[in-house]
Amino acid sequence: MAIVPDDTTCALCSEPIWIRLGPESGPGSDDDEDMLPQQGASASRRVVPDEDDEQVVPDDVVLHDCPASHHFHWQCFLSHSEPETYCPACHVAIIPPDDDDARLLATIRNEGGQEDNFDLRPVLVEERLFATAPHLRTHAALCSACFTGDEASVLDILSNPSLSPPETTHLLNTPDSDKHWTPLFYAAVAGHADIVAFLLNQGADPNHRDRFEHVPAEYASEEGHAEVLDLLRGARSVY
Ligand SMILES: [Zn+2]
Ligand SMILES: [Zn+2]
Repeated sequence: MAIVPDDTTCALCSEPIWIRLGPESGPGSDDDEDMLPQQGASASRRVVPDEDDEQVVPDDVVLHDCPASHHFHWQCFLSHSEPETYCPACHVAIIPPDDDDARLLATIRNEGGQEDNFDLRPVLVEERLFATAPHLRTHAALCSACFTGDEASVLDILSNPSLSPPETTHLLNTPDSDKHWTPLFYAAVAGHADIVAFLLNQGADPNHRDRFEHVPAEYASEEGHAEVLDLLRGARSVY
């Protein structure tokens, strides 16, 4: 189902809400599970749409509780100060400021499709955290790449020239706030042997225990990932 481009503009920057997909993210990559747009949805690709251009997709957020149905680019909305309580354009309160459980529902349209009841609240909370501690964003990206088996991204993140070797080791062995998993847990539970081998080689600790006192090998075993299990056991005996 194609979305027909119109002349909608972002209420914050006044540019069209349409972007042209780059060659690296064609329509083939329809990952419906993840509505969050990639960082690549940049301003430089914004275009005035042409109906026949199949490479043009929306980058659009509409808050359900904004009476004017303002449209925003994803990044424009997120980077606005305190978008979690007021519509950044008309300043109408969109959720009660003192209700921590309130959902902030929006309709999101991007290259992944359309989601009519997307709760923006958890994303905004995470964004605020990332703004105060940028390394957590890198860590989250690394964990995600380890889980999905995205070897190119794992390599990219860990070979970033701005990271010193101690910083790389720190990134590898920092647990997340949820289950206290390090990147190695994510690669192990998903059975990505090449990534597990690479992480171990880079200094990931196979003996790290999560919130439940488990080590990565236990998850690999539970999931029946024999090759990963061998790697982890081999590494554990070295330590
Ligand atoms: Zn904008
Ligand atoms: Zn508004």
